[in-house]
Amino acid sequence: MKAKKYVYFFGNKETEGEGSMKSILGGKGAGLAEMTNLNIPVPPGFTISTEVCKYYYDNGKKYPEELQEQINDNLNKLEKSTGKKFGDSENPLLVSVRSGAASSMPGMMDTILNLGLNQKTVEGIIAKSKNERFAWDSYRRFIQMFSNVVEGIEHEKFEHVINGIKAEKGIKDDMQMTAQDWQKVVEGYKEIYKIEKNSEFPDDPREQLQKAINAVFNSWNNSRAIIYRQLNKIDETKIFGTAVNVQSMVFGNMGDDCGTGVAFTRNPSTGEKLPYGEYLMNAQGEDVVAGIRTPKHLDSLKDDNDAIYNQLIDIFNKLENHYKDMQDVEFTIENGKLFILQTRSGKRTAAAMVKVACDMVEEKLIDKKTALLRVEADKLDQLLHPTLDANAKKNFKLIAKGLPASPGAAVGKVVFSAEDAVEWQEQGEKVILVRAETSPEDLAGMNVAQGILTARGGMTSHAAVVARGMGKCCVSGAEGILVSESEKTLKAGEILIKEGDLITLDGSIGEVYLGQIPTVAPQLSGYFDQIMKWADEMRRLNVRTNADTPKDAKTAREFGAQGIGLCRTEHMFFAEDRIFAMRQMIIADNLEQREIALKKIFPMQKNDFKQLFEIMEGLPVKIRLLDPPLHEFLPKEKSDIENLAKEINVSADKLEEKVHSLHEFNPMMGHRGCRLGITYPEIFVMQVKAIISAACEVIKEKSTTIKPEIMIPLIGEAEELKWLKSKLVPVIEETIKEYNAKLEYEIGTMIEIPRAAITADEVALEADFFSFGTNDLTQMTYGFSRDDSGKFIKDYLGKKILKEDPFKGVDQRGVGKLMSIAIELGRSVKKNLHVGICGEQGGDPDTVKFCHKIGLDYVSCSPYRVPIARLAAAQASIEESLQK
Ligand code: PEP
Ligand code: MG
Repeated sequence: MKAKKYVYFFGNKETEGEGSMKSILGGKGAGLAEMTNLNIPVPPGFTISTEVCKYYYDNGKKYPEELQEQINDNLNKLEKSTGKKFGDSENPLLVSVRSGAASSMPGMMDTILNLGLNQKTVEGIIAKSKNERFAWDSYRRFIQMFSNVVEGIEHEKFEHVINGIKAEKGIKDDMQMTAQDWQKVVEGYKEIYKIEKNSEFPDDPREQLQKAINAVFNSWNNSRAIIYRQLNKIDETKIFGTAVNVQSMVFGNMGDDCGTGVAFTRNPSTGEKLPYGEYLMNAQGEDVVAGIRTPKHLDSLKDDNDAIYNQLIDIFNKLENHYKDMQDVEFTIENGKLFILQTRSGKRTAAAMVKVACDMVEEKLIDKKTALLRVEADKLDQLLHPTLDANAKKNFKLIAKGLPASPGAAVGKVVFSAEDAVEWQEQGEKVILVRAETSPEDLAGMNVAQGILTARGGMTSHAAVVARGMGKCCVSGAEGILVSESEKTLKAGEILIKEGDLITLDGSIGEVYLGQIPTVAPQLSGYFDQIMKWADEMRRLNVRTNADTPKDAKTAREFGAQGIGLCRTEHMFFAEDRIFAMRQMIIADNLEQREIALKKIFPMQKNDFKQLFEIMEGLPVKIRLLDPPLHEFLPKEKSDIENLAKEINVSADKLEEKVHSLHEFNPMMGHRGCRLGITYPEIFVMQVKAIISAACEVIKEKSTTIKPEIMIPLIGEAEELKWLKSKLVPVIEETIKEYNAKLEYEIGTMIEIPRAAITADEVALEADFFSFGTNDLTQMTYGFSRDDSGKFIKDYLGKKILKEDPFKGVDQRGVGKLMSIAIELGRSVKKNLHVGICGEQGGDPDTVKFCHKIGLDYVSCSPYRVPIARLAAAQASIEESLQK
């Protein structure tokens, strides 16, 4: 039986791999093989496949039997190909050992350079390079890197050796160190190794190589790499393991005709079609990125070496034409000869992402579908919100980390209550509202704040939902902080922050900084519009928005929303001019008193709805009747209760008794949604009357067509819907008659209780539409509280029990299955049942794609996610067409 192939050679005519073998060779290995095949100068070497990494982890860190022989064979081949010998004192072969997974994870795993150096081979390098200083410098770099990567000895331990010599000689700069100085450093480093490891630094290059290979495989599971995979949703069941690339060294630090650099074939921050890069003459790779010396702009390479510059530009063109994407290239010049060490598709900002995609269609390198698939939907967020100036960020202190609840950046003075936020804002201050957690009562404060920071709460907590809806930056669930609302302080570790102190939030990654980091405002380019236009041509799913206010509705329309999928009417009740009447309604003792209060609210509600209908200009508007439990509208603190009692002219005792009577142990499963309508139908009656009156008036005033969609929340039993309809439909019909209008309308339900999903054939008989409320549906399917689960979900993610927070993206196998069942059952009795989603997950690209697959008609999401959903919907259609 032929042994399984684990090692692939690259170099000259003997290359065994190719670009398509990314899953086996990793991105770097596949790139090196492909470049060699394209006759691009690449130092030869070999790649140990990702399959070895998998074997290594599956078998208690042991290697397949045949591996050693294959490594030996490839080392021999490499020696022949370079004419050098591993461990040789005259013409030694030195190699780099580098990681490279199938999915790029820049900087997350380990690399060792100059491997093969020892007391004997360093002499060979001196003789060959005629550059003693370079040889000893390379050797000390190798010892430090090897000790760190293989043995975990911290870099700092080595620093004092160099610093000691520099101090002795009274010099500051590495460039002033002589060959003898570096030689002393080598001796000092070896001493440190001996102290730390209780053994000599390994001299045998083969032992060095084996240890380096082990270390690179081990680095697949270092904490940096694990977090990177989590954040970038790299699925280990599909992409597992790193390859190891062993490549002959070329040196950029052997003299003035040597150099090294990193370049992008286009500008990665703007997308401009001009190569962008940095390099240093007489330097090794790490010098360019480490910031010890300031690298030069690629353009000046023209002056340093015109021929090399031109060759490099030719290679960039060749690579772009071949890969049909912007490339990120590492190169080295050794004694006037150019080598390419790596090529990969370049990481870019969202602005560059859309520009490069559009330009490449124009240049006929790719078609529109490829362009759309290349744009990462989630990343569009960067274009829609102000962002922090990345250069400035480094200079500020990170004080806490929470959930990236709503993206963007915000700078402001800390305040600890909604009232203070409003007051400070009125005095012209920019504020960050900091709360232990937020409740609907904080809405006014959230509305005026630049951003919101909470110590508790998950991705779908009140703060997160409302902030996303407002397009406002929010970091939620920052558990490391202690908020004292009474003392108006925030403690983050040792740091005490008081009211009025400046902080900066980065809502895109959930970070909190002390001080004011400058932000940059978003500017939507023509390229963004172009991508959106192409996306609209391709998608089947409609995209609506969740909007409760005219401002949200307008923003969403600007972003291309095709209607409102959810208007949460309760948010309208918190406005200052109506909370009073609302509270009167709640504490009313009888129907008569309640109706008096409702009458006060009616014209305001009607006006709210009129504004929404007008802004949406005939696009569908789905309005949900009152959902939260009534206690949310009443104060909780004794002093607030007393104030309110005075205001509404009742005794404090009576009000307190009411607050008490509304208390529930589990309010999210309590007296809310349709259950309120069943107890107090007059509330829902007032609301539908306001909706229908508003529609009739706008039809008359603007001569547009409007088809309001009335949505009942929290249905779990078809009879609930039937009963409520029996109360509401006569009111609707009567109102239409009063206006003498022609109006079609729909009444449907949220599907947010598992029972509604599994009895959807019964529910559908009563419903014109379904809208999946996946916030509650997830809460009730998993039994995870949407407000509190942030505390433990991170442990689930860390321990890989869950791959993703189910409140961020729909849990497709559980909650998603209920959705599929509901659609199938619903449509089995009502073929044209209209189905959408309005939970927060509706703006998550993977959820949008899932909704496309299971046959929803539309997704609805917060205004700022509308473009993301439009693109994800297009990608879903394209991916489906490619699978056929
Ligand atoms: C939901 O539960 O998904 C939903 C949209 O309703 P709310 O978030 O208002 O409970
Ligand atoms: Mg709900």
